[in-house]
Amino acid sequence: LMRLYGPINQLSSMQATVMTALVSFDRVFEVLDLEPNIAERPGARDLADARPAAGSGEAPDITFEGVSFRYPSGDEAALASLGPAGGDRPGGADEAWTLQNLDFHAPAGKLTALVGPSGAGKTTITQLVPRLYDPDRGTVRIAGQDVRDLTLQSLRDTIGVVTQDAHLFHDTLRANLEYARPGASEQELIDACEAALIWDTVRALPDGLDTLVGDRGYRLSGGEKQRIALARLLLKAPSVVVLDEATAHLDSDSEAAIQRALKTALAGRTSLVIAHRLSTIREADRILVVEAGQIREQGTHKELLAADGLYAALYRTQFAQDEPLEEAAVLDPA
Ligand code: ADP
Ligand code: MG
Repeated sequence: LMRLYGPINQLSSMQATVMTALVSFDRVFEVLDLEPNIAERPGARDLADARPAAGSGEAPDITFEGVSFRYPSGDEAALASLGPAGGDRPGGADEAWTLQNLDFHAPAGKLTALVGPSGAGKTTITQLVPRLYDPDRGTVRIAGQDVRDLTLQSLRDTIGVVTQDAHLFHDTLRANLEYARPGASEQELIDACEAALIWDTVRALPDGLDTLVGDRGYRLSGGEKQRIALARLLLKAPSVVVLDEATAHLDSDSEAAIQRALKTALAGRTSLVIAHRLSTIREADRILVVEAGQIREQGTHKELLAADGLYAALYRTQFAQDEPLEEAAVLDPA
């Protein structure tokens, strides 16, 4: 990372702004440490061009059609790098899929929550949308378009991701925020920090927004980093938002305050939210219950409680303690 970004610091500020715009995607890739085996098709289109009403500002919907995926094993990854001879996957039908035959629709401008046990495949599902991986079978669509037909730049410009392990680049806080919106004004940076409840912390630092953070800079706590990541999301204001347990490091007081800020930020956007708090899940327009790489149930909170299946069981064991009194009545209709 240092080797790549060190030189940027030496550029003039105008050049730096241009560079920031160009590298922002590559930065996302580096953070996630992925093999760059995702290629753009010749003739790929921009997502904006592919939308039904270009420039209308309407958020796109997301559809999974028969999507199956498994992570390449170490052996396969090594074989694949040797060339076409390694292309065939050993194993076969009996080998376990990470995701198996997923079908779902995340409606435009609505909040879709993913719930399920750890290791179920929730994070992997969200990673197929910005093409951090491609499915082995089936199709992921955004605004009706196969994501593989879109330019990577337009796809990832459209999607803002906040994960539980927010990463800061070794650079100033200002640079860490500006890459989400190149050319942002001072006031826009401050507003985003205020909305993400991190401005008081930033302002108190000796160099404020110009404080160096990251590997060798000022050490922010996990919760502070997460708020910076949320401030970035607010600055980017993407039409699709992925939150992967994005408030996991926050104590419940600041989480409640951030949830209010997020609610405003998510309004009108298509969101996929991996949530562990009942307050978020209950507000979802749609809940997907994921287990062992499959979608076992879909519906609203009320529908799924009424169905008294996996969600109801999860709800009783994991979520009920969040709000035991109010929800007890729903669970016990007798
Ligand atoms: P969840 O987010 O629901 O906890 P994940 O999508 O992270 O689940 O993981 C689903 C499954 O895929 C798990 O068995 C996990 O161990 C595996 N997995 C996740 N990431 C990788 C990876 N980069 N390489 C190989 N296996 C992975
Ligand atoms: Mg996960």
